[in-house]
Amino acid sequence: IKWTEGRGWHDAELVPYAPLSIDPANMTLHYAQTIFEGMKAYRQPDGTVATFRPEANAERFQASARRMAMPELPTELFIEACDALIKQDSAWVPSSGEASLYLRPFMFATEVGLGVRPANEFLFMVIASPAGAYFAGGVKPVSVWLSEEYVRAVKGGTGAAKTGGNYAASLVAQAQAAAHGCDQVVWLDAVEHRWIEEMGGMNLYFVYGDRIVTPELTGSLLPGITRDSLLTIARDLGYTAEEGRISTEDWKRDNENGTLTEVFACGTAAVITPVGSVKSDKASWTQGDGEPGEVTMKLRKALLDLQTGHRADTHGWMHPLG
Ligand code: PMP
Repeated sequence: IKWTEGRGWHDAELVPYAPLSIDPANMTLHYAQTIFEGMKAYRQPDGTVATFRPEANAERFQASARRMAMPELPTELFIEACDALIKQDSAWVPSSGEASLYLRPFMFATEVGLGVRPANEFLFMVIASPAGAYFAGGVKPVSVWLSEEYVRAVKGGTGAAKTGGNYAASLVAQAQAAAHGCDQVVWLDAVEHRWIEEMGGMNLYFVYGDRIVTPELTGSLLPGITRDSLLTIARDLGYTAEEGRISTEDWKRDNENGTLTEVFACGTAAVITPVGSVKSDKASWTQGDGEPGEVTMKLRKALLDLQTGHRADTHGWMHPLG
C-alpha cells in the first residue's frame, strides 16, 4: 500500500515476492525513516488460522509512525493487509505445535531526495515466512551480557518505537555479548547504567516466588505485546504481576539470597525464554540453578496454549481468519 502527501493511502496490491528497485537517493537509505512490526499466525485445532492481538501490533505501528514523522496506517488496513497475505496461501501456516507463520509488516520512505526532512511518499508492505519452534530440542536457557558500555535508547529518543535505527545501534553490543560467550544483550538505562530495561529483541520478567515483575515502560524500551499479555495471563493464573524498577545490584543480590527465583525474557519470536546466566564487566553469576523455572514454563505453556487454540481466549485476543 502506498502513501503520498495529499492523497493518503492508495494502490493496495498483492504481488509475488520480488526484489525492489531503489533509487540511490531514496531517503530511507540515508535518513532511516523506517518502522516495522513482528507478529505470528498460528494454526488452530480445527484447522483454521488465527493471529494474536493484531490490533496491538497495529497500534504500536501507529505509535512508531508518529515518532518517526511517518503517516499512520489505520488499524483496519493494517489487519486487512496481513489477513490478505496469509489467506493467499494459508497452507503455509505450519500445523504442528509451536510452529507458526511469522509476519513482518513494515514501512519506509520512497521519496528521492537528499534534504533532511520527513519524506512525503511511503510504502507499507507485509512479508511472511514460516517459523519453526524457536527451541528445536526443548527450551534452553539463554546467557545474557549486561551492556555497560553501549546504550540502546535515551529519554526523548526513539527507544519506544520499532524503528530500524534502534536495531542498527544494537549490533555492536550484540557482537560484544557474543565475544563474551553470551547469547543476548541486556540493555541498561542510559543515565545511571544501572536499571534493567530489556533485551535485544525481548522484554524481561523477574520472578519472586509467585510475584512477577517487569521493568516499567520508561519511554526508552519497546512496549512488547508479549510483555503486556503476560501481565494479564499471570494474573489469570493467580500470580501477582506488576511493573517496577530492577537494578543490576537487585538482580545479583536477590538471586544470591534466593528471593529472585527465576528470570525470563519474552517476545513474539521466542515466546518465553528462560535466562540461565548473567555476565558483565564486573561480575558473572548463574541465575537460580541455571535451568528453566516452574513459573517460566507455566506461563510459557499458558501463552502458547492460548495462541494455538488450546486455552480459552477469555480476553478476545485471537483474530480468526477462517
Ligand atoms: N524489545 C525489542 C527491542 C523487540 O525488538 C521486541 C520484539 N518485537 C520485543 C521487545 C518484544 O516485543 P513483542 O512481545 O511485541 O514481540
